[in-house]
Amino acid sequence: MINWNDGLSIGVKEVDDDHKKLLNIINNLSIAISNNETNNIIDNIFNELKEYTKIHFQREETFLKNHNHPRIKKHIHEHKTFIEKIPELKTKLTNSLNTEHAQEVSYFLTDWLFNHIIEEDIPATNIFLNSAISNQNRSEKSILKKIIDKTTKTFSFTKRIFIFSIIPLLGMLIIGFIIIFNDYSNYKDIKKTSTLTQVITNINELAHTLQIERGLSSGYLSSSQTKFKENLNKQRSITLKSIESFNNKLLSVNSDKLLVITPFIKTFQKDINTLNDFRKKIDANEVSQNTAINFYTDIIKNILGITSKMAMFNLDKDISSSISSFYSLLQYKEALGLKRAYGTAIIENKDITKKKEYIKFIQLLGSQNTLLNNFNHTATSFQKDELNKIISSDISSTIYNLENSIKNHNLKDINSLLWFKSMTQLINNIKRFEDVLLYEINILIQNRLENGTNNLFTWIFYTSIIFILTVIIIYIFEQSSRNEMSQLIDAMKYLSHGDRTLKLSHVNTNDEMSKMYEAYEITRQKLLRGDIYAQLYLSKKELEIKKHQKQNLKLEEMASIDSLTGVLNRRKFAEISALELQRSSRYKSNLSFLMLDIDHFKNINDTYGHAVGDEILKHFASICLEMIRTLDVVARVGGEEFIIMLPETTGEDAYQFAERFREKIYSSEVNIKENLIKYSVSIGIAVLDEDNEVKDILHRADKALYKAKKSGRNCTIIDK
Ligand code: GH3
Ligand code: MG
Ligand code: MG
Repeated sequence: MINWNDGLSIGVKEVDDDHKKLLNIINNLSIAISNNETNNIIDNIFNELKEYTKIHFQREETFLKNHNHPRIKKHIHEHKTFIEKIPELKTKLTNSLNTEHAQEVSYFLTDWLFNHIIEEDIPATNIFLNSAISNQNRSEKSILKKIIDKTTKTFSFTKRIFIFSIIPLLGMLIIGFIIIFNDYSNYKDIKKTSTLTQVITNINELAHTLQIERGLSSGYLSSSQTKFKENLNKQRSITLKSIESFNNKLLSVNSDKLLVITPFIKTFQKDINTLNDFRKKIDANEVSQNTAINFYTDIIKNILGITSKMAMFNLDKDISSSISSFYSLLQYKEALGLKRAYGTAIIENKDITKKKEYIKFIQLLGSQNTLLNNFNHTATSFQKDELNKIISSDISSTIYNLENSIKNHNLKDINSLLWFKSMTQLINNIKRFEDVLLYEINILIQNRLENGTNNLFTWIFYTSIIFILTVIIIYIFEQSSRNEMSQLIDAMKYLSHGDRTLKLSHVNTNDEMSKMYEAYEITRQKLLRGDIYAQLYLSKKELEIKKHQKQNLKLEEMASIDSLTGVLNRRKFAEISALELQRSSRYKSNLSFLMLDIDHFKNINDTYGHAVGDEILKHFASICLEMIRTLDVVARVGGEEFIIMLPETTGEDAYQFAERFREKIYSSEVNIKENLIKYSVSIGIAVLDEDNEVKDILHRADKALYKAKKSGRNCTIIDK
């Protein structure tokens, strides 16, 4: 009776139940055989086994076909082979003469079933499981579970470890690069701004000269005298120098960095090209005062627009607000410039009827404060104080008075040159303040650039160090896990190939891997124990067999040897002598038999006791064994009666031997328990010859012995 072991389960209920049922039938068969049940009952059980095996095979094959098992052909072949073997088993079973033979069939069936499960079904477990699941309308898996399954299928274990460890590193790298990139684009913006500020110094200069030229032109156009002429000409050459210096600057600066202001520069260059012609028109008084002011104002507006572009860059707070303040100041100064131009025009004309200029002048007075507020909005308190100082200087009060006179149409006492010069002085003061602001902006930008470069390199440096360190750490960890894994795999391979020598000792005593190592070690030890037990069992069996053989031999010996004297007994002698008689008569060889009987042995027993009699028998036998040849055979055939068979010996030779022997016995003195005992023997000889029947020969020897006894004992008689 073999019990089901759950280790044989493959996890699919139908298949496992089949296997259990088959084992059950085989067990029933075995029990029926043991109980010596009738052939009919045994037949029935066997048929049940046959039928159920077929059902089971069919079920398995359907499962495997559904899932295209790669080894399906082999599987079906094994099934077929077994089905074909069934009739043979049945014959063996019914023809068995005894229980043991019949039981062999049930052993074979058990062995076959376990082999079938272990060698064929367990390796196909996955197929069975998948097939069983799909049969049961596969329960819905969550998306996450599906992704996990897919990942497990796609990536090997070590790859998964690698990716798992590299992903945080990649994340860190990306974050690092975003920060570096961010810093870098900041750095680039500041760099661009720095290029622009270099250009702006010149632009500022240029705007300033154009503003003066505008004022002088306005004065020149409205004045009937030539008082502005000289200054205007001077200013024109200053403007030209400014333009030249600006153009030179543009040539020296990388034009890529100026992309944002290229449209302004192009417009400016177009404007400048028309400047010469326009100046000629002014000289010839061909343009109105207003047109002239507008012409210059447009040029100035265009180039002042460049400064506003600078504020668009992604700069830090300090730089942005400094640039905004600077821009507001530029606007303010431009308003002052315009005010100077319109004021000059109004004073020169002494006529308010030219309303256009007057309205613009009044508008400028209004907007002036708004522009000043703009400046105050972004400027630092120091910058505000500085501007305040300029605005509240003496020159400002002069200007204020002149403005009031203009507003109140009190133009008679006003000198246009005084107005122009006062305004120009104020504007120049503001221009100087602008230069200071621009210088501060430059300093700020230079500082930021230096910091930016430092930051950039610091970031790149630290990111690289962290990256390299992380890679090294990941490499070490990955290798250490991989080493452990491959050690375990190698060890398991050894184990599966029957090698139990590889011992695994783990460094870390408490982690998951050490538990796997431990499990391996326990498995190894158990298998080792199993191997040793198997060997032990085998050698025990071998020993038992040897012991058995020895015992058998001893028994056989005991059955053929006389225990007192150590010579052959009558039974063995009968066996051997029969063969020898057969052989000798067939080959016509000589063969002699000596029948020996100790004389008056009864007297010895009576005189010295039975034990001494035994010793005499031993002595007699030892002399026999001592004197015979290798081929000769001695046997004790009665109490004190012995036979000696002498193959290849003639009667004559036998007689001589018998005489020598008799004399030897007669001359012996046996010392037993301080008694010196002498005894004699009578011998009868019979020789095998052609005329005599084989079966008579011993009888004849006996007769000869009888004669010897009759002749007075201690003699040899040969039967003739
Ligand atoms: P004979 O010369 O006529 O042969 O006289 P015998 O006394 O030798 O012959 P008999 O046949 O009268 O006596 C044989 C005796 O041998 C009888 C028996 O007690 C004794 N005997 C038989 N087997 C053994 C034995 O194994 N040990 C001893 N000590 N005596 C034995
Ligand atoms: Mg006797
Ligand atoms: Mg005797």
